[in-house]
Amino acid sequence: MPPSSPHVAIVGAGPAGSSAATFLAQQGARVTLLERNHFPRDKTCGDGCTPRALWMLERLGLGALPGTEAAMVDSVYTISPGGVVLEIGIPARLFGGKACAIPRQVLDERLVQRAVQAGAELREGVRVEGIERDASGILLRCRDGEPLRADVVLGCDGSPSVVRRALGAPDFPEHEGAFAVRAYYENVQLSHPRSMAFFWEEELLPAYGWIFPLPGGRANVGLGMRADQLAASGAKLPELMEKFCASPNVARELAGARRLGKVKGHHLPFGSFARHTIFDRALLLGDAAGFVNPLTGEGIEFALESGAFAAEAVAEAVASGDFSARGLGGYGRRWETRFRTAFHLNRRLMRAFERPRLLDRIFRAADRSARVRDELIDILSGEATSISWRFLAAVVLGR
Ligand SMILES: Cc1cc2nc3c(=O)[nH]c(=O)nc-3n(C[C@H](O)[C@H](O)[C@H](O)COP(=O)(O)OP(=O)(O)OC[C@H]3O[C@@H](n4cnc5c(N)ncnc54)[C@H](O)[C@@H]3O)c2cc1C
Repeated sequence: MPPSSPHVAIVGAGPAGSSAATFLAQQGARVTLLERNHFPRDKTCGDGCTPRALWMLERLGLGALPGTEAAMVDSVYTISPGGVVLEIGIPARLFGGKACAIPRQVLDERLVQRAVQAGAELREGVRVEGIERDASGILLRCRDGEPLRADVVLGCDGSPSVVRRALGAPDFPEHEGAFAVRAYYENVQLSHPRSMAFFWEEELLPAYGWIFPLPGGRANVGLGMRADQLAASGAKLPELMEKFCASPNVARELAGARRLGKVKGHHLPFGSFARHTIFDRALLLGDAAGFVNPLTGEGIEFALESGAFAAEAVAEAVASGDFSARGLGGYGRRWETRFRTAFHLNRRLMRAFERPRLLDRIFRAADRSARVRDELIDILSGEATSISWRFLAAVVLGR
């Protein structure tokens, strides 16, 4: 960045905020990272990092996560509604074929430490309550604190987002978001300890659940469902979670295990509704922008990558001296190119994954054909951007 470095205020020190802070500080920007909590802090999540999320962690200098903190996985284990069981290895072509699960309490602290090490100033216990923009900059109003002036603000405050609302972006409609719950278990002895396990239990559809292994014999167990379907069903997610844990496939995995703490839930916005992300002197990143895979609920990789895209766009705005939405427009071009097709494909695939017989056919086809398995692992890893005719033919024709 040129000598007159901009002052970038980042609201929220989750994966999006810490990633943006690290890349911006490395470019020489003055960065203030505002976080309402104190680290280490928890974040309700499945704790699963896709192969691409691991690649982003490497780019941020966090490649070597110790085994005491992260459980490495190299396959996906799934059971369809009709009981078709698959275990598919993550191929090396997907960022080396590795994924992991790491408690967010640990991951987010590592990420924020990295941002501070890169030169960002972290202010903890600061809740941003609103922003005001004028020709000369941004003013952030903080509860119990002095207002902060900056040249640009990055809204990385998750869902729901104070910055998003202050910028006038619309809320996510019910059908463009989900709710998910998770609980931690200890003393777990999983049948596939190096797999991320996904379960589509017929009586719980369209909800689906997961078990992700964690170090020290622990696991993250959870369940999610689209918000409008949940409201229409009249069901409560914590009750569905109890049914999920009692279902035979899941109960077998959790035999002898003990639940730790409470079942906790949170909202997930869908990437298929992500379109309001660039404003004069402001960008929205991560969940605040809606960057979550509608099918799998994964958002960490998008949060991390949107941090890199935002840093590049801010550098361009600095070079042109233009902090308007136009000057920051490179952000939109970057994320649209990388995320948009996948978000829309996964939103469409969601419908197929809600239909038990169709899901059984997909899994049977994958069991028969290495080519279909290859596409299915791309879908479950969040890397698919299209579905081939061969895949469709194998599912529809059953051969
Ligand atoms: C149950 C569940 C399971 C999930 N499982 C997975 C998974 O396995 N893998 C995956 O990739 N994704 C998963 N996700 C999605 C993932 O959690 C999010 O996509 C990810 O956390 C987004 O990161 P972020 O940095 O945008 O926001 P967040 O992680 O939400 O971070 C936002 C930060 O902003 C802070 N903040 C909020 N408001 C303010 C304010 N006003 N002032 C200051 N600070 C503020 C918060 O305290 C927080 O630290 C799951 C989500 C849920 C709910």
